[in-house]
Amino acid sequence: MTMERPDLKQALGRLLGPAEAEVGCDACFQELDRYVELELAGKDADAAVPGLRAHLDGCPACREEHDSLYALVGGEHAP
Ligand SMILES: [Zn+2]
Repeated sequence: MTMERPDLKQALGRLLGPAEAEVGCDACFQELDRYVELELAGKDADAAVPGLRAHLDGCPACREEHDSLYALVGGEHAP
């Protein structure tokens, strides 16, 4: 019986972090306007700005910034 380790590479990949660039707070603030505009336009904001949703989920400060921006821009777009 052979002991294959097909999960080893995957586990290693997880240890080394995600393949896509990690979004930091600076990058988050730079992209937030565009991200919110895309969200409000019904576009795929997650695809346009990879990693930003994950950052918002893990960063309360940026999350708050996103929510207030979303409300602000969304309010402007409202009839
Ligand atoms: Zn942040």
